[in-house]
Amino acid sequence: MATVQIMQILVTGGAGFIGGHLAQRFAADSHDVVVLDNRDPFYDLDIKQHNIEAGQAAARNSDGSYEFIEGDVRDAELVTDLVADADYVYHQAAQAGVRPSVQNPRKYDEVNVDGTLNLLDACRDEGIERFVMASSSSVYGKPEYLPYDEQHPTTPVSPYGASKLAAERYACAYSEVYDLPAVALRYFTVYGPRMRPNMAISNFVSRCHNGEPPVIYGDGTQTRDFTYIEDVIDANMTLLHEDAADGKAVNIGSTDNIEIKTLATEIRDQIDPDLDLVYEERHDADAEHTHAATDRAEELLGYDPDHTIREGVAKFIDWYRDNRDWYEPLVRQS
Ligand code: NAD
Repeated sequence: MATVQIMQILVTGGAGFIGGHLAQRFAADSHDVVVLDNRDPFYDLDIKQHNIEAGQAAARNSDGSYEFIEGDVRDAELVTDLVADADYVYHQAAQAGVRPSVQNPRKYDEVNVDGTLNLLDACRDEGIERFVMASSSSVYGKPEYLPYDEQHPTTPVSPYGASKLAAERYACAYSEVYDLPAVALRYFTVYGPRMRPNMAISNFVSRCHNGEPPVIYGDGTQTRDFTYIEDVIDANMTLLHEDAADGKAVNIGSTDNIEIKTLATEIRDQIDPDLDLVYEERHDADAEHTHAATDRAEELLGYDPDHTIREGVAKFIDWYRDNRDWYEPLVRQS
């Protein structure tokens, strides 16, 4: 049997949704994981505690290790110290959320751009194996055509999208200028267990479980690639050994692109088919349509997402039912 090489992996934002799953998988695969996260109170800290505990449990059940460091990616000294011990850096920390970025753009710049630069400087100086950062479909802005491929113009329509674009441009520039192996994965609406409680899917599931109709903002014809967390984690895992995407941004989307009202209907039908759907006014900062062309991911990373929305939603609903006691109150108050 082939022996697995143990890596030292720094996961920033590892107390968050995607970083939490990444850290958990790395620890389960017997790698040594260090999580850097400032437990930003953007949403309830209970979820972050569950993410940390999932990583710790994975390490206990494997030959891996898991260490949580409470700290900030804006702290260049701390970042430099942590990167010095790492083979790989998976940078998931960010001030997330399109709508709140409209209220406080400077914070998005400080965390998402300056924080990324701190990591890139340290990675360049330490000569690490690879820097993998979470980018976003928000970098594209208004679509000139769909699905977005990576050549589509990038004209973000929110400070959040602008900050993610600046961060990934720095990562690609560091790859070019300093030969730093760096990849930006542009995620398209990721969902699954322990997801942020203020996302549409958790909201729809919670309301349906309580006999309340799901609320849709706008007419529900907005489309999204809802990408199941396990597919996103698989794409990240590939980058432990695959160098074909170095210096590039790569879309990570789903198998099927659907309208929000179709999503709401699917969830409603799986939980309580008698419920109606309710429509309210939509928010301007939200993208009307996002749809990923994933040819580049397929070509460079062998990306092959295997969760349809029906399967992903069914898995999420199962998890929700098992964790309803602690998760549902957080969705209700978000
Ligand atoms: P999340 O908010 O759950 O996780 C982000 C984590 O970063 C949080 O735990 C937070 O405490 C931490 N963090 C925030 N500011 C920090 C700072 N200054 N220093 C250290 N840690 C800090 O968000 P998520 O959904 O897991 O997103 C992870 C990444 O993926 C982000 O970069 C986000 O922009 C990107 N992304 C997510 C989605 C999605 O659908 N969830 C879509 C596109 C892109």
